[in-house]
Amino acid sequence: MKKKYIFGNWKMSVDSALIHGFVAKFAQRRDLPNIEFGLAVPFVYLDNVVCSIDSSNCLIGAQNVCEYQKGAYTGEISAEMLADIGAKFCLVGHSERRHIFNESNLSINHKIINLLDKDIIPLLCIGETLQEYEQCTTKAVLAKQLEECLQGIDADKLKRLMVAYEPVWAIGTGKTATTKEIADCVDFTKDTLHSILGDVQIPVLYGGSVNDKNAGEILSIDVVDGALIGGASLDVDKFLAIADKVLD
Ligand code: PEP
Repeated sequence: MKKKYIFGNWKMSVDSALIHGFVAKFAQRRDLPNIEFGLAVPFVYLDNVVCSIDSSNCLIGAQNVCEYQKGAYTGEISAEMLADIGAKFCLVGHSERRHIFNESNLSINHKIINLLDKDIIPLLCIGETLQEYEQCTTKAVLAKQLEECLQGIDADKLKRLMVAYEPVWAIGTGKTATTKEIADCVDFTKDTLHSILGDVQIPVLYGGSVNDKNAGEILSIDVVDGALIGGASLDVDKFLAIADKVLD
């Protein structure tokens, strides 16, 4: 059976008590050999979660990284620091960072370079806004984000990249794209990656209001390599129920 990636993004929505309960129950999960889990943890809890979750099939990562390598950047966290505490991946270009914190494709490009330099997997999020969706410019938006975010980076280094297609209008809204739209956009993303990188297999996940009810349908789309889950990743039962759908 094809491997699927089930990644959670805890955003700014957890505390020590929630994490404690999550970790205890997550440790008791049944063996799911064809699933690679991942959890994007807020910086302050990252070290603790790295130490308390068995990393054999769960990557622990960050939600952001500084675009600069090192130096006087008060309040920032470098790729080197993430590597130092054992983070294995890092979200980059999440729509909340692009739209609330004005993150540009150029700064995302720098972040990807810094992460790859420290052997941390960048999980690049791309996706169109509602307005772009309604104007039917989704594919042009995805192509521009991929081209600019990956510009100038050696294809060989990008072998470890992961991508999540996340329509902005579907994040945290309860709306999901149709299976046809998801298949079409993930396919397009893979074709675009192919034209930029050549013959490299990059996993492409879908994100946007995935939950235990709709996950079966979304994860059964052949080209979709997994899901990036925000809200439903805060409840360990729901998160594991989503992973169980891969087996159904
Ligand atoms: C996300 O944060 O990337 C996300 C997809 O959130 P949600 O599942 O809550 O829509």
